[in-house]
Order: sequence, then C-alpha cells, then structure tokens
Amino acid sequence: MNDIYDLVVIGGGPGGIGAVVEAKILGLEKVLLIEKSDNHSNTIRKFYKNNKRVDKDWQGQTVELEGNVEFVDGTKESTLDYFDKLLDDETIDSQFNCEVTKVEKRDNIFYIYSNCGDFRAKNVIISIGRMGKPNKPKYRIPPSIRSRVNYNLDKCGNGEDIIVVGGGDSAVEYACELSATNNVRLCYRRDKLTRPNPTNRKMIGEYAERGKVRLKLGMDIESLESQHGKIKVNFSNGESKLYDRVIYAIGGTTPKEFLKSCGISLDKKGEPIFNPNTYETETKGLYIAGDIAFSSGGSIAIALNHGYRIVNHILKNRQ
Ligand SMILES: Cc1cc2nc3c(=O)[nH]c(=O)nc-3n(C[C@H](O)[C@H](O)[C@H](O)COP(=O)(O)OP(=O)(O)OC[C@H]3O[C@@H](n4cnc5c(N)ncnc54)[C@H](O)[C@@H]3O)c2cc1C
Repeated sequence: MNDIYDLVVIGGGPGGIGAVVEAKILGLEKVLLIEKSDNHSNTIRKFYKNNKRVDKDWQGQTVELEGNVEFVDGTKESTLDYFDKLLDDETIDSQFNCEVTKVEKRDNIFYIYSNCGDFRAKNVIISIGRMGKPNKPKYRIPPSIRSRVNYNLDKCGNGEDIIVVGGGDSAVEYACELSATNNVRLCYRRDKLTRPNPTNRKMIGEYAERGKVRLKLGMDIESLESQHGKIKVNFSNGESKLYDRVIYAIGGTTPKEFLKSCGISLDKKGEPIFNPNTYETETKGLYIAGDIAFSSGGSIAIALNHGYRIVNHILKNRQ
C-alpha cells in the first residue's frame, strides 16, 4: 500500500494492455496492470480457437487506430506474441493471478482491493470485458446435459453432431472450424447473417453451399432436454432434433455487481454510465474501457483506442 500509482488498470485484455502501454509511452510514470488469470488476454486465450484468424475490423466495423499500438490482422498466436512484446518493451509492472473485488475513492485517492493485496492510485481504468460470464440462453439447461453445453470450443470432440447458436463472427468461425471434423449446424434467430464481417460472411456462404455447415436461420430454440444421453433441441417451429453438443456463441454479460462494487452507476438497461467522449464515469478519475463500454460489438482495435483516449484525458486533467 506504500506506492500511489498514477494509474492502475484492472483487466489485462486488449483494453487494459492498450491503456498501460499508452500510459507509459505518453509519460505516466507509475502504472500497474492487474489481471485475474495467470497471463494477459484471458478472453483471447480461452475463447479463440488455435490459429484463429484475428481481424482488425471485427463484426464488420472499420476502425482507425489512433494511438501508438500498431495492431494488425493476424492470428491468435501473433496477436498474443505482439501483446507480450508490448508489455515487455514498455516494462509494464503487472500483477497476474490477482482478482480485483472492489474500488473505493477516499480523499481523492482510489483504493483497489484484490485477492493479492490492496493498491492505491490517482486514476483507475476498469477493462474487465464481458466474457467472464458468457451470455446464456433464457431457458433452463438440465444438469444432465450441462457438460455438453459449451460457450467456447473446449471439450469439443470429433465426429459429433453439433449445433452452434449465434449469428455473429464468433458463431460463424466456431461453426466452420468444427465442421472439419464434425457434423455442424448453425442456428440463428434472424433470417440473415448480417453481423459477421465480409470475410466471415463469404466463408459461411461457401461452407453452406458445399454442405459443410448446415444453416438453420430465422429459428429460435425454445428448450433443451436430455434424451438417450443426447441433447434434444426443441425449435420454435415445433421441430426437435438430437445433438451431441450445443455451443452458444452469443456474447457476454455486463459485470454489474463488479461495477457497482466500484461505485459505478448503471442505467435502466444495467449498463455503466460514463461520458462517451472521455470514458470517465461519474467518479472523476475512474474510467471504463473496452467491451464493457458497449452492450455488444466491441473489438480489439476499439478497446485499444479507448486506452489511448483515456490516457490523453488523464494527462490533460493533470495539467
Ligand atoms: C470467439 C471470439 C472471437 C473474437 N475475434 C475477434 C477478432 O478477430 N478481432 C477483434 O478485433 N475482436 C475479436 N473478438 C472480440 C475481442 O476479443 C474483444 O472485443 C476484446 O477482447 C475486448 O477487450 P477487453 O480488454 O475489453 O476485454 P477482455 O479481452 O475480455 O479482457 C478482460 C480481461 O480482464 C480480466 N478480468 C476480468 N475480471 C477481472 C478482475 N475482477 N480483476 C482483474 N482482472 C479481471 C480477464 O481475465 C481478461 O483478461 C472476439 C471475441 C470472441 C469471444
């Protein structure tokens, strides 16, 4: 508790990494990155398949990078290598395996409480993403089939009948990847796949045409049941079909309780209240960055830009 950091960044994903790197480059001296898992970029490590193509313009959004981080199209591995290099080059002070539970402001200083000790800072950025709790369907998932209902590609085997649920880039990428060794159907509630970026739209079009991924569009799932060791999926048109595995790729949830424990107010929809130009919350010096600043549709490049803008705002306020 002796040091008072100029900036503590909570969450070591792209938003957090962008913020600490910009902070060091732009001249903040005492900067700390706190990450709950044993390395940075937990969402990328946990939810991206190996060798996944990483697109700078994700979900069809073209983003100009504003700061000093030169993130380009690549793969999961090249992106992680690049983030390693950024953190090494700027000799960023980091705490891994360190989960923050609460942030409090007293006498103009932030107190950051975590399972690895407490820290003090003049400014705090919260960039903990949404994938700590992936979105789940509204209907109940019976306990007997829970081990075969996934939110990423972990535990997927070969030769399985799999239904991937979702209509964004991750659902499309999961479906195409799995189709190499499984029978895959992609189920989306709308009639058209409009959310994926052009590359993924082209890819799913080709996979569907070749019959590698079967599409079930304009269709909701009403419930899941357990039947003969399989998952019975009941669709909104009254049809049912048995699958070995269901994979939901439907985004993540707002970490409401965490935000509240940091004193951040939520709007009627349960989203954090902040200034959309500066990313500062109602508490001066407390910012949010990355995916938690959106109800949906964040990306790596957008998260990196948040870090750059916030650090500039902190520097401006210091003058
Ligand atoms: C399957 C999939 C594929 C994607 N592909 C692309 C792509 O190709 N291109 C692209 O631009 N975007 C892609 N995205 C989106 C991109 O991953 C996110 O927009 C980006 O990771 C958001 O960064 P973030 O820093 O806001 O949050 P995250 O990346 O989620 O990072 C949050 C970090 O905070 C940590 N954390 C959480 N709680 C705490 C706590 N209490 N204390 C300390 N640390 C904590 C987490 O462990 C995590 O490391 C994809 C997303 C998914 C799910």
